[in-house]
Amino acid sequence: MSEATNMKEVTNKTIIVLVGTTHPGNIGAAARAMKTMSQDKLYLVNPKIFPAEEATARASGADDILTDAKIFSSLKEAIADCDLVIGTSARTRNIPWPLVSPRKCADIISDNKYSSVAIIFGRENSGLSNDELVLCNLALKIPANAVYSSLNLAAAVQIICYEIYLSGIDHDSLESLASGAPLADQKTMALFYQHLEEVMISIGFHNTENPRLLMHRMRRLFNRAQLEENECNILRGILSKIQSKIKFD
Ligand code: SAH
Repeated sequence: MSEATNMKEVTNKTIIVLVGTTHPGNIGAAARAMKTMSQDKLYLVNPKIFPAEEATARASGADDILTDAKIFSSLKEAIADCDLVIGTSARTRNIPWPLVSPRKCADIISDNKYSSVAIIFGRENSGLSNDELVLCNLALKIPANAVYSSLNLAAAVQIICYEIYLSGIDHDSLESLASGAPLADQKTMALFYQHLEEVMISIGFHNTENPRLLMHRMRRLFNRAQLEENECNILRGILSKIQSKIKFD
């Protein structure tokens, strides 16, 4: 397989998702960063100003990526069809999320286990919220100066896309076909979490007056496990059985 064909396999399944971007220039610069690294799928969640002349100017010839960019009103909607979601952040959080480096992220993408991988980037002034981060399977931090670790948005996009590009031309494993069962997508996982919460409330395990991060922890657990569709169906089946037992007891 040629290098060009290899790259296509890697890039076609990666989606760059920019959430709540304030400066249109950063959207253009991100598109340019993507195109230099053969990425072409850009999703924008609630951009402040878009389309914009400044975005087109900063894209500098990568405006096809801006023209094809899809716009969403929620992150959930944007990632609904993805089987792996990676959130990028310069900061560590109260509940540590499984953390990967840009290189590890690129390795994961190139090993062909996933068919659609979203990489999420936050707002220039505040990054991703905790509610957005809990939608992710993994968190990605670009190693940087501990006392000045926040990169410009497009620079962060560039580094990650570069690693993905490198992994595409370095690894022969791209030629191997994906094997294994399909993973549960985000829509299916959202229904599962809703079902789990309902059951935990009805058996008196989950007190919504005093939730103590229970659902947050459950999400961390199952996002880390990366459930297959079948596994998710089994868990939903168990939950339904519990519900019918409660009803008849
Ligand atoms: N002030 C924000 C930083 C936002 S920078 C904060 O404290 O979170 C804009 C976006 O660029 C971030 O949301 C993230 O997606 C990306 N980014 C910047 N620096 C990064 C780093 N060191 N590692 C991973 N992503 C980074």
